[in-house]
Amino acid sequence: MRKKIIAANWKMNLNINETIDFILNFKDIISNTTLNCEIVICPPFTSLTIANELLKNSNIKLGAQNMHHEKSGAFTGEISCEMLKNMGCTFVIIGHSERRIIFKETDELINKKILVALQNNLTPIFCVGETLTERETNKAFDVIKKQITVGLQNISINDGEKIVIAYEPVWAIGTGKNATKEEAEEVHLFIRNLLKEIFNEKISEKIVIQYGGSVKGDNAMDLLSQKNIDGALVGGASLKAATFFEIIKNCG
Ligand code: PEP
Repeated sequence: MRKKIIAANWKMNLNINETIDFILNFKDIISNTTLNCEIVICPPFTSLTIANELLKNSNIKLGAQNMHHEKSGAFTGEISCEMLKNMGCTFVIIGHSERRIIFKETDELINKKILVALQNNLTPIFCVGETLTERETNKAFDVIKKQITVGLQNISINDGEKIVIAYEPVWAIGTGKNATKEEAEEVHLFIRNLLKEIFNEKISEKIVIQYGGSVKGDNAMDLLSQKNIDGALVGGASLKAATFFEIIKNCG
């Protein structure tokens, strides 16, 4: 039985004071609840230190939104895996569609980052997903297959089960349009079968596959009750403790 993981991707939102408000409020909201899922908060780099302090002694995990694959050196503006670990991160989002589209990250670069994250015991939340044009021209499954096969190149069977995958149709991110539970489940099953080919059946059954794209309190139950949907990567609705909790409540 896979434990669901609900991760908050704050993107370039919430400063240090807002981070403090969010975390204190969120910890208060969940204090009387039995959590049936793992929770990860991925703030901007500038809030990692304070978030790490506030999350100590809680069971909420800390993640980053990106990293560079080199250890150190002349990479102005970049952050290494070791730096993230040093700040208390145990997760890192890799290959988000905004990184792919705006910052031109390729499947090959994403693969390098995933390998380095795994070597350093940082759990990658590896994002894949098709654009609207790709879906409308029946290319979605080919695109996702390429993203996954190249993204997971040279990853050992032992490391396979440590990866989290987030299926995020680009047309559903920040648009208010989510994939229906049937559309999402179809892709999640496709991904699970691909993972079976890449690793093996046992590993493929262990890998958490999150859905992301306009997940909110009112669609979370439908999506999270699907057999192959093991959690959510949440953007907009994760910016307020109350709306994030509305999603978490749906982890049965
Ligand atoms: C995301 O940023 O990964 C995301 C899914 O955003 P939203 O929930 O706002 O669509």
